[in-house]
Amino acid sequence: MLLGINEVEVFDLKAYIDKKKCASDNRICKPLTECPKKAITWIEDEEEPLGSRMEIDREKCVGYGTCVPLCCGDCIEIR
Ligand code: SF4
Ligand code: SF4
Repeated sequence: MLLGINEVEVFDLKAYIDKKKCASDNRICKPLTECPKKAITWIEDEEEPLGSRMEIDREKCVGYGTCVPLCCGDCIEIR
């Protein structure tokens, strides 16, 4: 069965982290430990103001949003 454009877009939904809101703290980050696809990684990065960042692997993320309510900083969005 052929899918319409809107149906394809639904399958392409991914999680995005707003770095400006994110605490980037791997000790408290529930999305990091509880993402069922292990799509979130904590990366040390001297270029970042906090010295690290959370990164979402778009290949692994399935976009169902399990991580959204787990984020203490309300910084993850599905789009
Ligand atoms: S819980 Fe949210 S704000 Fe906190 S480190 Fe994780 S992604 Fe960032
Ligand atoms: S939407 Fe799902 S797969 Fe993607 S980062 Fe969040 S919990 Fe992980």
